[in-house]
Amino acid sequence: EKETHFEVFVLAVDVGTTSIRCHVYDKEAQIRGSCTDKVVPLYPEVGHVEMDPGEIWRGFITVVKGAVQDAGVQMRQIEALGISTQRATFTTWDRKTGVPFHNFISWQDQRAADLVKSWNRSCTMKVSLCLLYFLTRQKRLLAASLIVFSTQHVTFRLAWVRQAVAEGKCCFGTIDTWLLFKLTKGQVHATDYSNASATGIFDSYQMCWSGFLCSLVSLPLSIFPKVENTGHDFGSTDPSIFGVPIPIMSMADQQAAMFGECCFDVGDVKITMGTGTFMNINTESKPHTSVAGLYPVVGWKIGSEVVYLAEGNAADTGTAIKWAQELELFSDVKDTSAMAYSVSDSDGVCFVPSFSGLQAPLNDPKACASLMGLKPSTTKSHLVRAILESVAFRNNQLYETMLRETRIPITKIRVDGGVSSNDFVMQLTADLFGRKVTRPQHLEMSCLGAAFVAGLGIGYWRTREELKKLQSTDKMFLPRGANKEGACSRSREYIPVLQSWERALRRSMNWYKP
Ligand code: ADP
Repeated sequence: EKETHFEVFVLAVDVGTTSIRCHVYDKEAQIRGSCTDKVVPLYPEVGHVEMDPGEIWRGFITVVKGAVQDAGVQMRQIEALGISTQRATFTTWDRKTGVPFHNFISWQDQRAADLVKSWNRSCTMKVSLCLLYFLTRQKRLLAASLIVFSTQHVTFRLAWVRQAVAEGKCCFGTIDTWLLFKLTKGQVHATDYSNASATGIFDSYQMCWSGFLCSLVSLPLSIFPKVENTGHDFGSTDPSIFGVPIPIMSMADQQAAMFGECCFDVGDVKITMGTGTFMNINTESKPHTSVAGLYPVVGWKIGSEVVYLAEGNAADTGTAIKWAQELELFSDVKDTSAMAYSVSDSDGVCFVPSFSGLQAPLNDPKACASLMGLKPSTTKSHLVRAILESVAFRNNQLYETMLRETRIPITKIRVDGGVSSNDFVMQLTADLFGRKVTRPQHLEMSCLGAAFVAGLGIGYWRTREELKKLQSTDKMFLPRGANKEGACSRSREYIPVLQSWERALRRSMNWYKP
């Protein structure tokens, strides 16, 4: 037996869009063992993006067993389990048999684009919401009338699924809920506030499923899971699964990365750049309502504390990089930063990262991805630079929207996700913001966040101050010309490039007609 026999650990799993990852964390928040499995997206039709629930379940079991083995420890040394998942990806299943009615419908799925557009245009809905507001004086209704709906909100996609729901004995669940149901052998049908709030069917003001939105799409409230705190004893894994029961002590959406980055205070910002970009700002105890498509989500609920985040999202970040790789613009993604730096500019090439439409602040699900300004002199390096620039440009758009709409002074900016390992993207982001941007050593902050919440729940870690001390920094990106505090005026050098890129954006908008 190893010396580590009595050492105990916290384990967390993050179900991302491209992979499922599991890490075993020790008291110093160091990773002692890891395992990763692929998530295979299914594209049954143009614009449809699905995942097989059975595959997600098998992947989950594989990575948990693999990480524990990799750490060289035993299952019984795992004191708690935390789960973070990609957002608003849902399925429905039979409560009795546990058999899914259909595949997971991904947050990237576009099948409801037309419906979303017509709803956003629909005066009837906005008027009825406003009318209700004036009748009831409930501020949340006015807020709801201002929200710009996007296809990422489950509400519209769920309408498509209505037929499967009509049978009655149906459970609705996002990935966390499905995994919890499976892990507890059907005993627990629950989710947490952060996951619920990202579905678009949840009323973040009242902290309950929205009867109003459900009735708009004719769905019974009974199919929805119970909503619990992010840090909560959700139940233990059935002993038949891992040999011993493991308490499931946290469930969270990608907002868990905010917790992993220790963005505990108002004005703290984190940017997760994975398959998509999720930029969040901590707005503390108040949900923020936006006209430009920033979405108010619950960051976490722990005890009686609820922390809200305003969120801006760009759906195509890693997807654009992966696409470029498939085209063989480069073979190793690690080379892309050097390729971009090898040329002084993109030679006038603009890339619009919009395989799944453009989200805030443009909110156009019908926008197309495009490469404009190609010339006979354009090289692979120019194309790579244009693609990486577009990631930083979208960051900049989201950042400006956040500054303009929330008016909250920003305290710190931390990044994570696979694409944040790209130095070119990070430096350009810092230059455009005119702010210091900090990258941690490990980029899987959603996983760490889920582990932190689970660990706090069992007293493995005791305070948030203790967690802050465990934070690692890989690199700080200071904007060019920055003072000691890392601040400077925002780079003007890029303004002409930004302006042509914005022209390319506009030309790509409303491209796909019904
Ligand atoms: P998710 O959690 O959404 O599955 P990840 O955070 O794992 O995504 O990020 C994966 C993405 O990061 C992939 O698309 C990959 O191409 C991209 N990526 C990884 N390293 C780099 C790099 N050095 N430069 C640019 N992109 C990168």
